[in-house]
Amino acid sequence: MVETLHLAHGTLELPAFLPDGTQGVVRAVDAQDLLDCKIQAVQMNVYHLMQRPGSTTIQALGGLHKMSSWSRPIFTDSGGFQVYSLIRQNPRLGSINDRGATFQPAGSGRKYKLTPEKSVQLQMSYGSDVVICLDDCTHVDDAHEEQQASVARTVRWAQRCKEEFQRQVEGRGLYESQRPRLVAVVQGGSERKLRRHCAEELLATGFDGYGYGGWPLDGDGNLLADMLAYTRELIPPRFTLHALGVGHPVNVLACARMGYELFDSTMPTRDARNGRLYSYTLDPQKTRLSGEDWFEFIYAGDKKHIKQSNPISAYCDCPVCETYSLGYLHHLLKINDHLFPRLATIHNLRFMSQLLSNLRTIG
Ligand SMILES: [Zn+2]
Repeated sequence: MVETLHLAHGTLELPAFLPDGTQGVVRAVDAQDLLDCKIQAVQMNVYHLMQRPGSTTIQALGGLHKMSSWSRPIFTDSGGFQVYSLIRQNPRLGSINDRGATFQPAGSGRKYKLTPEKSVQLQMSYGSDVVICLDDCTHVDDAHEEQQASVARTVRWAQRCKEEFQRQVEGRGLYESQRPRLVAVVQGGSERKLRRHCAEELLATGFDGYGYGGWPLDGDGNLLADMLAYTRELIPPRFTLHALGVGHPVNVLACARMGYELFDSTMPTRDARNGRLYSYTLDPQKTRLSGEDWFEFIYAGDKKHIKQSNPISAYCDCPVCETYSLGYLHHLLKINDHLFPRLATIHNLRFMSQLLSNLRTIG
């Protein structure tokens, strides 16, 4: 298992959780808040950024780091997940062929094209530390033929991404220590043969790291643990493997134990904004976590918290728990004050960074 990851904007201690700042911001919090939560890196998304604020604006504002005032590493997702979540779910929102994907977002009246080459060009022009190859993402329940076609396309696109990446590195005159890392995504749904084939082809092309692609949960919302564990076995331990989109605390724990080093998800921040707060039931600095009883959800809007003068969690050292009571947070949520999403997000992100710290130190 890889324990540290050296990137142009800093070194990550692994495993690490990356909040999703899909549109160039982790909603409701700023760069200083993220540092206060001990977040090491964030993940943004080229598909959303190319629409808003748009590539020329990002460049005019000095790239993603300068624009967001975040000086630590930024990973950028390629738009491959949106191939699944938008086009595959609703063909009226776009089309996909071997050349690339064309998105037609509802209500925008515009078309956005992403090819493997363009995805890499944009990610590098934005100043990303970790560039993710455009892939053809599927749902685990899609038919065999679709999974097979997705793997073939994902492998070809990854090869084209690498060629473009090398052109960009040479054209920009980047040294080895300055260049971003290039990560390829393993597809194949729930079929072991396809996962193996995809992993072998990608390993033969050669990348800096790999990701587990495809929706990581089954139809009932359960983690696809067998397939995630199998995919980890396919990728040699000297390479990082990123569990893309995994963010439920129990699932992060399970995947980290399998040997996954990187996680990103909108879940902890979206839950925070919706009033679902995470809380340890035991001291995460002293206890090896197992099962599901080590944490609980606290619903900030529940009226039982009206007069609660204690912080959200006795085991949390975040600025919110050091300063405010759960009863006050309940009040902020009830009056719909803008302060609530910020405070709730800070708390949930510190919960996540404490979880990853527990996994690094206790294991
Ligand atoms: Zn807290």
